[in-house]
Amino acid sequence: MPLIELQSHSTHSDGQLAPRDVVAEAAKAGVTTLALSDHDSVAGVPGAEAAGREHGVEIVPAVEMSCVHEYAEDLHICGYWVDLAKIEPACERAQDERRARAAEIVENLRGFGFDLTLDDAIREAGGADSIGRPHIAKAAGATGDLGPFFEEYLVPGAKAFVPRRWPDAAQAIALIREAGGVAVIAHPYWDISAPGEVDDLIRSLRADGVETFYPTHTEEQTRHLLDLCAELDLVPTASSDFHGPTHKTFAKFGAYDTYGLGEPQVPQRP
Ligand code: AMP
Ligand code: MN
Repeated sequence: MPLIELQSHSTHSDGQLAPRDVVAEAAKAGVTTLALSDHDSVAGVPGAEAAGREHGVEIVPAVEMSCVHEYAEDLHICGYWVDLAKIEPACERAQDERRARAAEIVENLRGFGFDLTLDDAIREAGGADSIGRPHIAKAAGATGDLGPFFEEYLVPGAKAFVPRRWPDAAQAIALIREAGGVAVIAHPYWDISAPGEVDDLIRSLRADGVETFYPTHTEEQTRHLLDLCAELDLVPTASSDFHGPTHKTFAKFGAYDTYGLGEPQVPQRP
């Protein structure tokens, strides 16, 4: 039985395991095709490919680019089959943007009395290439469920929030295609809840696919995305968005439901 998992994260971004251990976990769970899709980083892909050969898991080289869109301040676009050297400059720029944004958020938090520095947040990110708001929250002292800290300080409109400025969604898709890749809109109903906005997003962006099957997508949402894929000739992909064995939300493979509506597909190499 094929088990397709086209998103997962390692310690190169906000995952808990090294790339080879992500692949080992996937193999144990019966995954047949896996993408390691770290946020704005492809540094883990070669290690994942080596482990894939060892475990007999097909690895699709991938990156998950964070971007901005009018409907979502943090929209994710996955790039599959990207040439690693060609996408690297975009990853480096995104990582630089993340550091600059982190510095501004840290300054804002200091203004609210938190005793932290950018170095604390960078230390919290450990070996990760991509620093993100979860690292900053932990450096500020938040523990366990980061939700309440996010709600008060780090979401749009909250006290210390600073928006991402680059790239926007169309730029992210263009960067992926320029690097020889295929662009797939990740988990649309995770970032956006209004069906009309999801519909408009998918119709207007003209990506190559949509992550249709996803643990938090309801049957109705999955059907909507599948119908759009059929109408617009987009590839319906799937993932459980594995972040590690003790992650609060995304801790296992095979966690998405197809509701018997269809089967996920792997985008063809261009
Ligand atoms: P960033 O890459 O800095 O934009 O941070 C995005 C990450 O922050 C997401 O991948 C989530 O892990 C986390 N995040 C976003 N919103 C929330 C929230 N409301 N509660 C907890 N974590 C969140
Ligand atoms: Mn994502």
